[in-house]
Amino acid sequence: MLRIAGGRVYDPAHGVAGEVRDVCVQDGKIVADVPADARKIDARGMVVMPGGVDIHAHIAGPKVNAARKLAPEGSIVPSTFDTGHRYALLGYTTVVEAATPPLAARHTLSEIRDTPIIDAACLVLMGNNLPLFELIRTEPARVREAIAWWLRATGGYGVKLVNPGGIEMWKRDNGNVTSLDDEGPGVTPRQVLETIAGAVHDLGLPHPVHVHCNNLGVSGNWRTTLDTLDTLEGRRAHLAHLQFHAYGGRPGGRPRSRAPELAEHINAHPELSADVGQVMFGPAMTMTADAPVSAVLREITHGKWVNADTEAETGCGIVPFTYRERNYVHALQWGIGLELFLLSRDPWRIVLSTDHPNGGSFLSYPRLIRLLMDREFRNEEIRRVNGQAMKRTVLLDDLDREYTLEEIAIITRAGPARLLGLCDKGHLGVGADADITVYDDRADREAMFAAPRYVIKDGRTVVEDGELRATGRAGNLLRVAAEYDPGIEPTLEELFADRYSVQFTSYPVQEPWLLEPARTVAAEPR
Ligand SMILES: [Zn+2]
Repeated sequence: MLRIAGGRVYDPAHGVAGEVRDVCVQDGKIVADVPADARKIDARGMVVMPGGVDIHAHIAGPKVNAARKLAPEGSIVPSTFDTGHRYALLGYTTVVEAATPPLAARHTLSEIRDTPIIDAACLVLMGNNLPLFELIRTEPARVREAIAWWLRATGGYGVKLVNPGGIEMWKRDNGNVTSLDDEGPGVTPRQVLETIAGAVHDLGLPHPVHVHCNNLGVSGNWRTTLDTLDTLEGRRAHLAHLQFHAYGGRPGGRPRSRAPELAEHINAHPELSADVGQVMFGPAMTMTADAPVSAVLREITHGKWVNADTEAETGCGIVPFTYRERNYVHALQWGIGLELFLLSRDPWRIVLSTDHPNGGSFLSYPRLIRLLMDREFRNEEIRRVNGQAMKRTVLLDDLDREYTLEEIAIITRAGPARLLGLCDKGHLGVGADADITVYDDRADREAMFAAPRYVIKDGRTVVEDGELRATGRAGNLLRVAAEYDPGIEPTLEELFADRYSVQFTSYPVQEPWLLEPARTVAAEPR
């Protein structure tokens, strides 16, 4: 039992913004009260928030592991142990691994089992899957059954689409798709989007379809992004790393910012949400299922790269990268991310992310928070970076918005928890998971968010006085349970026989040690 006494509490899900109150914990959950002799943390003068929730990062699986081999020890792609410890030391207690190849789910789950402290969920890649393409062509009404089967088979939480149709074209002849109506691999990107988004909606999964649009990084791609949103037609959807999809200009030409137009579109559509994918200057590691993008990046860096996962229902490209302040494109990307944050009116639908480690490490979140909360600091930074790029944004128009602590609590925990449909996370109401972060209230917000005073995970104190106190065991795997008609299995078995080199019966993950401990969230079919 634990009482966190006298802190200023930020619990946006319950409209609490800086009220001084106690937060009580028993058996890993938030409770209304605990006896007077319970252990006490004196949080007077401190700020208390739910544990952080990262809706989109790359922390486990074959792609991350291949990137570790390219990166020096202890750098931008940490080991499993370091990943868990460093997230906890930042006050984050739940992280979504955003791109799991279904065929390699065992690898991803093994690494999650090896990642201490944090709870984790996997988004399963379904936008370049040949058996699913066949069903989309021939029996679209049964796609929902297949998706539910795949989520069960992989221990997944949600459905991710990456460059639908394009990766398969890359694997065939280094091709790609460039519009939603390209013929592609027997289906168009628009068919994939429509059918899978519809199936996710009908299944009632807690998190809507999570989309990495076609044409990532290409000048003029904002039109593809808008076309994608129009295709989703009022269905709930989450856009991954919107910054990388917000470019004006002509393909092959210099990009410019179309962040204001996209922010306005999202403002006007309450069913849509996005994480930003902020670029932070310094070293990064681009790693994506979108292998054709990596081939383009490699032409820029001329360094080592990895192209892998060819015999899976996806691709994989990895290119080490450095974002530089004086470089026009990099500065523009940095500016577009800030525009998206500052122009979005509903903090519940815009989530803080760097698409770790693509735009930068999750370790740069505290600096990003300071950029959002401290206008003077931001304006100093704006003056340092490439001036031509800044002229292509609205950042020079003296955008004076400063995020409040309440808004930071929304974009880093309450909002992503709600978008993920994780009812026990991101808030401090009775019955919530006792995942809690306590910060010293410091004027330097970067310093404040870089070193929480206490972090509580499931009621256990894992960080105390800014130092790690607990290591070892992994958190829960967050999975989804969606019902399906078992009649889909013989159909899938036939499709497997034609396309896979593994047997259908040995494909699903059945090893209990990979799937436990788990927290299962039920789908609510519509
Ligand atoms: Zn990503």
